[in-house]
Amino acid sequence: MNLIPPIKAAPSCADDTDPTSLTVFQARSSILDTITPISDRQRLFLRDALGRVIAEEIISPLNVPGHTNSAMDGYALAGDELPEAASQEYRIAGTAYAGAPYEGGCASGECVRIMTGAPMPTGTDTVVMQEHARVVGEERVLLSPGQKKGRNVRQAGEDIPEGGRVLERGRQLTAADLGILSSLGIGEVAVYRRPRVAFFSTGDELRSIGEPLGKGEVYDSNRYSLYGMLKRLDLEILDLGVVRDKPEALREAFASAAGMADLVITSGGVSVGEADYVKATLEELGRIRFWKIAMKPGRPLAYGNLGKALFFGLPGNPVAVMVTFLQFVEPAIRYLATGRVWKPLVIRARALTSMRKRPGRFEFQRGILSLSADGELSVTDTGKQGSGILTSMSRANCFILLDEQNAGVSEGDLVDVQPFEPFTLREGPRAEGRGPRD
Ligand code: AMP
Ligand code: MG
Repeated sequence: MNLIPPIKAAPSCADDTDPTSLTVFQARSSILDTITPISDRQRLFLRDALGRVIAEEIISPLNVPGHTNSAMDGYALAGDELPEAASQEYRIAGTAYAGAPYEGGCASGECVRIMTGAPMPTGTDTVVMQEHARVVGEERVLLSPGQKKGRNVRQAGEDIPEGGRVLERGRQLTAADLGILSSLGIGEVAVYRRPRVAFFSTGDELRSIGEPLGKGEVYDSNRYSLYGMLKRLDLEILDLGVVRDKPEALREAFASAAGMADLVITSGGVSVGEADYVKATLEELGRIRFWKIAMKPGRPLAYGNLGKALFFGLPGNPVAVMVTFLQFVEPAIRYLATGRVWKPLVIRARALTSMRKRPGRFEFQRGILSLSADGELSVTDTGKQGSGILTSMSRANCFILLDEQNAGVSEGDLVDVQPFEPFTLREGPRAEGRGPRD
């Protein structure tokens, strides 16, 4: 299926329906269609593998737990010997510790004092917790009635059976995964190489921090917000600075970026203005797959290949850079790194304000999601939604997703929202003397 419409003359910014644009959904899937996930591997010690993508399937070489053992401190005995109607006295045959199992037997009328994690002694299958026991003399204990056979015992292999599949390939290793691998005695794992991502800003008007600003000049902020978004992911990041709006300078930067990275990101220069050379340079040196998406902000986004590298020419406006990164580049990087399709969480929340919108484009409004006293999620927009208003991203904790068909939101409507990562409902000062649940 070819999702890519022919590239025609530039649309006017006034239309909201442009037949030459891809929908957000089409753009995302056509990007994934062109990506071959990284297959180079390396072996790492367990601690170094935290957050990395595992390149092998882990089959358990043993049972976890290895032995049937007690889940409590108490007394182990045969379930058939439990007291029935009244408390009953037993002889304590010995003591079982987690590190020093009890090797003797347990006859009728006997029990074994047992600690949490100690293997169940031969002849026992039940543990009475010590809160239901009273020592009545040397080697004698009184156990209460009302106990059940098999209680307070962890079966061998109940967490992980020997031969069971524990972790699938393509998973990003979490703290719990490191714990599991170490419980299996596995000290090294194969992981995929991290993606290498190179990025640079384009624009004659851009200045670096520390330089004075002339008329019409702005400080380059996109490289910093891009750095921040890339840094959250597990990547090798290559910051290639600012490149001027000159075809030769862009050609040179494109070629060197493509030679060192799996994925190249630029910002600016993808519209149809006089100084917008990014698209033309991509067409000349690589292959352009599409360059317009029916969305707001972020309509011009040039996607294609530059040699072996994937190429994203993001728009120049600071909000558009962040929105297009989060909606297209991040899913692409995650797929490149893991071979798995990543779907961010989308939830429904009640709109506390109305929002104007015309059908045609998908809008990513910046929102503030909060939890009301009655436990309902509600959302407001952050105010001005212009693509240069970067404070809207900094104040927001979510995107409000208004799809192509949406023709505006009334106060009280339910809307889809995509929380930012890592998500926090609200940040505020700590109220004196109150705990986190108050
Ligand atoms: P462009 O797409 O290159 O026409 O840029 C669109 C707008 O974004 C212009 O107002 C640029 O000055 C601004 N812009 C482009 N790149 C950056 C950047 N790296 N940092 C801040 N603003 C930028
Ligand atoms: Mg520019």
